[in-house]
Amino acid sequence: MDTYKELLKGNKLWVQEKLRQDPKFFERLSKGQSPEVLWIGCSDSRVPANEITGTNPGDIFVHRNIANMVVHSDMNMLSVLDYAVSILKVKHVIVCGHYGCGGVKAAMTNEQYGLVDNWLRHIKDVYRLHQEELDSITDEEQRLNRFAELNVIEQVFDLSKTSIIQNAWRSRSLPMIHGWIYDVATGILQDLGVSLHSKSKLPSIYNVTGKVVAGLGV
Ligand SMILES: [Zn+2]
Repeated sequence: MDTYKELLKGNKLWVQEKLRQDPKFFERLSKGQSPEVLWIGCSDSRVPANEITGTNPGDIFVHRNIANMVVHSDMNMLSVLDYAVSILKVKHVIVCGHYGCGGVKAAMTNEQYGLVDNWLRHIKDVYRLHQEELDSITDEEQRLNRFAELNVIEQVFDLSKTSIIQNAWRSRSLPMIHGWIYDVATGILQDLGVSLHSKSKLPSIYNVTGKVVAGLGV
């Protein structure tokens, strides 16, 4: 019942510890932020970006949602991405998934979960794209793990399809975009080796030119 009081108590202790290590820590942070990394991760409480990377406030700009999705009509994600890439000029964007993801697991079933089904459908699209590979994995946990990895890989591609990323690549050849997976059972982060910093691997239909055309002609 008093969990929220524990949080406030925890905050006081944390402030004391930070000031003990570095008396100017908060004074410096109050002057502004210049993180080099945008993190797009899962809302899962076991995957906090700063803690698992051993970083501090000010180091990582963060967006989290169920199953670390890059949905191209999600204004929240797009706003975070645009601010991080166009204003903060981050050098890296990391999509980080995790094994044992509840969202990915739910998407692999045929159950109805309610409102969230509309979100999970984007993850089901990933299954459809990789159905042959995923159906061939007989062990359910292994299939789920691979599904979580493929979901990250597809979100990296989805990032590269945005005009935000393509405009940044055109003007400054950055950010690098990466796909990582986290193992909640070991605490280890793994790079899935799908980093991109150009649209060379992207099917040409997704390329956007640098010029904005007025009107859709409808
Ligand atoms: Zn998750």
